[in-house]
Amino acid sequence: MPSASDTVTIVGAGLTGPLLAISLVQRGFRVTIYERRPDPRRVRLSAGRSINLAISVRGIHALREAGLWESMRDIIIPMKGRMMHSLSGELTFQPYGKNETEVINSISRADLNAALMNEAEKRAVKIHFDERCRGLDLHSGIARFRNEQTASETDVDSGVIIGADGASSAVRLAMHKLNRFNLSQRYLDYGYKELTIAAGPDAKHVLEPNALHIWPRGSHMLIALPNVEGTFACILFLPFEGKTSFTNLDSETKFLEFFESNFPDAAPLMPQLRENFRDNPTGSMVTVKCSPWHVDAKSLLIGDAAHAIVPFFGQGMNCAFEDCTALLELIDRHGPEWATIFSEFERLRKANTDAIADLALENFIEMRDRVADPRFLFKKKVELALEAKYPRLFVPKYAMVTFQRIPYSVALSRGRVQDAMLSELCQSIDRIQDIDWQKAESMIHRQLTPLEQL
Ligand SMILES: Cc1cc2nc3c(=O)[nH]c(=O)nc-3n(C[C@H](O)[C@H](O)[C@H](O)COP(=O)(O)OP(=O)(O)OC[C@H]3O[C@@H](n4cnc5c(N)ncnc54)[C@H](O)[C@@H]3O)c2cc1C
Repeated sequence: MPSASDTVTIVGAGLTGPLLAISLVQRGFRVTIYERRPDPRRVRLSAGRSINLAISVRGIHALREAGLWESMRDIIIPMKGRMMHSLSGELTFQPYGKNETEVINSISRADLNAALMNEAEKRAVKIHFDERCRGLDLHSGIARFRNEQTASETDVDSGVIIGADGASSAVRLAMHKLNRFNLSQRYLDYGYKELTIAAGPDAKHVLEPNALHIWPRGSHMLIALPNVEGTFACILFLPFEGKTSFTNLDSETKFLEFFESNFPDAAPLMPQLRENFRDNPTGSMVTVKCSPWHVDAKSLLIGDAAHAIVPFFGQGMNCAFEDCTALLELIDRHGPEWATIFSEFERLRKANTDAIADLALENFIEMRDRVADPRFLFKKKVELALEAKYPRLFVPKYAMVTFQRIPYSVALSRGRVQDAMLSELCQSIDRIQDIDWQKAESMIHRQLTPLEQL
């Protein structure tokens, strides 16, 4: 019989819960998951849950460690850069990385979730669906679940309980009642709606498939990520209030007029636009920071439950998967010494999850306002030129976050230093050949240490 400390209950079968469960079972733990929703593999997806996610190095590393990445290859599409669509339909491609190996990958949340659940079940993880966590005694670890179909309630007594229950976590809510629990949550005044670009004949993509498409329009923005079956999953970001807002676009006619005049090259590719607008809910985006993330050796928050972030750096899931990597390394080092593991986990991760939260908010402004600005695009070229000349010293912020596994806090602080350098170097030039290399060299050597030494 495994001991109490070897049994783990996870709340939430979203993206983090099943991945963590698989990795814990691989280490000999017995794991059970409770999920408030019905099984998405058996019940049709509710409208607005068909979003695509960009998975990059941190997420890939965690999946690879669990032996799952290779099997995901059939459900991903590499995206080599941003394809910007101007109002007049002009296209500008901006690569994400310095070469074709630096790509991000589009994956359907539903497909990834199903794949992770299947793998977890193969490894004898029992997932109880329709079971909503209603609260827990954080010190004893006894959690109460209510069945969403029958309304019956069950108490579950487990060695350890891990809240992987997302941005509105019930486990976090229980911790909130504790003395000296810190919590900040900040909603963006923007919402989002999921829309779809249909596949062309023979399930072919009607836009370049190996790109993340962006229609930046200042106060609002449309993005599209490719799907393996030829469609694109789109997200429209718009303020909740104001002249051009979800509140004002309150009829199908107004919405279609707005869409056709702002995204004239996308609208004809979206035969389901009217239905998508009507049927898909308007989502909100929140940054959550809290501490502590654990209570004694009994309960822990992980993923969005501990640190929800806005989606503009494409890092929420990547960061949550990196949480799993960090937690598992600690388990491998300490064995089931949960109190040590939990406090060490928070110590290692908190500064980094705070940093990616800030980076994601900064990237919102970049994607919305700056990607169409010729000065911004020029700076990106200078950035790549600096990286080519000083590859160990000057690594663009986007690359540090997306293509490396260096701590997010380091990416944030180095990114700020580099942004200041770029502004200075680009101040009075508009051609790459005019870069003042002497000045660049002196600034870089003075202010940056080689990345390997970190
Ligand atoms: C519009 C948008 C785009 C995004 N794009 C990206 C991207 O490109 N790349 C990226 O890395 N990240 C992206 N993210 C972020 C990513 O979706 C999240 O960071 C990720 O889903 C977090 O995983 P999680 O397991 O912590 O939470 P979730 O995936 O939200 O899972 C939580 C699970 O817990 C369940 N649950 C909730 N409450 C209870 C309860 N009381 N009892 C039982 N179960 C419960 C939920 O039903 C859910 O299944 C995006 C997010 C949004 C909103």
